[in-house]
This record gives sequence, structure tokens and C-alpha cells, in this order.
Amino acid sequence: MAYPANPILVLADLEPSGELAGSTAGLIGAAAQIGAPVVLVVGGTPAAAEASATMGAQAVLTAEGDADSLTVPIVDALQAAYAQVQPDAVLISNSIAGRDVAGRLAVREKLALSVDAVGVSRDDEGVVAHHSVFGGSFLTQSAPTFGAPVITVRLGAVDARAEAASAATEALTVTASGAVAATAGPVDAVEQTSSRPDLRGAAKVVSGGRGLGSKEQFVLVEQLADALGAAIGASRAAVDAGYIPYAHQVGQTGVSVSPQLYVALGISGAIQHRAGMQTAKTIVAINKDGDAPIFDIADFGIVGDVFTVVPQLIEALEAR
Ligand code: FAD
Repeated sequence: MAYPANPILVLADLEPSGELAGSTAGLIGAAAQIGAPVVLVVGGTPAAAEASATMGAQAVLTAEGDADSLTVPIVDALQAAYAQVQPDAVLISNSIAGRDVAGRLAVREKLALSVDAVGVSRDDEGVVAHHSVFGGSFLTQSAPTFGAPVITVRLGAVDARAEAASAATEALTVTASGAVAATAGPVDAVEQTSSRPDLRGAAKVVSGGRGLGSKEQFVLVEQLADALGAAIGASRAAVDAGYIPYAHQVGQTGVSVSPQLYVALGISGAIQHRAGMQTAKTIVAINKDGDAPIFDIADFGIVGDVFTVVPQLIEALEAR
């Protein structure tokens, strides 16, 4: 298959069912800003390849595997796709699995690795990754001095969407590195019982902090999240106090999110928390301390007690 000029190789995100995950649209949108998106689908359904074209892939490569495949087979497929396409850059989601794959590809191919980009662009030298650092206080850029960069893109950070394309699909022949079969065994899957959106990549996030006071009272965060159809986040203080498991921690040492709406309840807005949410499009803060630093970055702020304000908010939302 002939690839378009300036190809940007995108590793598609998949749902456990093998369908294309919605987050792939942002990756393809980012790729379209700097070249022609060529999407690799590893272990997806036939519909996943078609959906990639709808999201703007100009060519689609498919490789066999399970949607929740181990990392190494995905890296094998990505490396084969890289050799075949010779892209100007490789874009991968900045999820835990994505960073794992990206790092391994960069080492295998001796490529520069840029993680947690909130945008990409192209200048005379090549592809540039943009990063939000020090709690979102500064925007920096990184560009490789050699080769095509491997870039992990923060979920939800890129709004751009590519136009649908009529992409040719090619099945990729992958030579497995063989390293996995000998060492890997089955992994127990932990069933996710929540019907709420996943924190990573969610369009709306409601987060609670130490101000909630106890695990029992943290249910208020869940109630507002459910009224808004939002994912649940938390500050480290809330996680450390056992209000909610660590997987919900937002911030420097937790998850980075870039939702359309971020609601912070009883969170002071320490720089380490801001590092993980400052790129949210709209920030709403409710805190009883009018001097709390969270108000410095909030688009809408309410100085008040969460136990008074939030029930009224939920009532108003449910009355709509
Ligand atoms: P607090 O700072 O105690 O704030 C609680 C807020 O609740 C206060 O502003 C208070 O006015 C308000 N409040 C109290 N009661 C009410 C009420 N009834 N109604 C309304 N408001 C109320 N933190 C993170 O969040 N994520 C990280 O990833 C992270 N990583 C870290 C990494 C390092 C290396 C370090 C040193 C720290 C890190 N922290 C992180 C911790 C961070 O510095 C803060 O301690 C933490 O974010 C504070 O959480 P908080 O805002 O919930 O608690």
C-alpha cells in the first residue's frame, strides 16, 4: 500500500470489546494537524478499522491480537508498522499502557520520546510536542534532534477532529519478538462494576478533597458526578484519608485529566493537584475558604460549604 505524504502513525485505543475507543479521535485529530494520520489497530474488530477512517485515518493497518493484549505484542506490531510506514512521528495515548508501549518502541528504534503532550505542531525542523508543566503555569515544547519522535498525548487534551477519510486497510504481518510467550501467563481481570465514565479521557470530572471530611460524606461527590454523568476524581489528601481508592487521584502523582468540565469540591488547589487538572476547559470550584488557591484558576467559583451548595446544585440539575 502506498502511504500518504508526511504520515503520522497513530496507535488506536480500543475498548476491551475490540471496538475503537472514543479517545482515538483526539489522537487522529492531533495527527491530522501535523500530517496524514495512518492508524494501527492491534486486535480490534473489523468495525474498529472502519471507525478509524470515519475519524480521519487516511490509511489503516491492522494486526492480530487481543484488544487487551499484553504490551510486547502491541510493541511488535507498532515496530512493524513503523518500519513499513516510516512516519514523521508516532502518536500514542498517554495512558499507563500507552506510555509503556511508547517507551519500548522508542528504545527499540532509538527514537526520541516526548510524554504527556497537550498538543502537537510542525515547524521547519519537524514535529514539535507541547507540554503543560509546573501545574500548568508554563507551556513548553520538545522536539527531537534526530529521527521521528514518539509522543504520548494527554487524553482529552486535543479538541481537533479530522475529517472522515476513505482509507485503504492493510493487514500487517508481524514477527513476534518471542519474549512474551516464554515469560507471560494469564492475568486476572478485575471487573469494573461502575457504570460511571473512566476518569482518564472523561468529558466531565467531579473531584472531592479533604473538605468532604469522611468516606461516608464523600458520597456527595458521587451524587453530583452521577447528576452530571461525570467521572470521579479526588485530591491526594482525600485518597490518603481513604475516602476513595488511589486510582481516582488527580494530580502530579495521580492521573492527568483535560475534561471539558472539572468540578473541585473541598479542594484547596495545591500545585500538585493543579498539575493534573489545570488544562481542563472549564473549572468550577466550591470551597468555603475564599482565599483557596483553586479560585485562582477557576472559571466559576462558589465560596460556600459543599454540604449546603452541592445538594442544591444536584436538585437544580435533576429538576432540569
Ligand atoms: P487541603 O489542602 O486540606 O484542602 C481542603 C480544602 O477543603 C480547603 O481549601 C478547605 O477550605 C476546604 N473545605 C473544608 N471543608 C469544606 C466544606 N465543608 N465545604 C467547602 N470547602 C471545604 N495532591 C493531589 O491532589 N494530587 C497529587 O497528585 C499530589 N501529588 C503530590 C506529590 C508530592 C511530591 C507532594 C509533596 C504532594 C502531592 N500532593 C498531591 C499533595 C498536595 O500538596 C496537597 O496536600 C493536596 O492536594 C491537598 O488536598 P486537598 O486540597 O483535598 O486538602
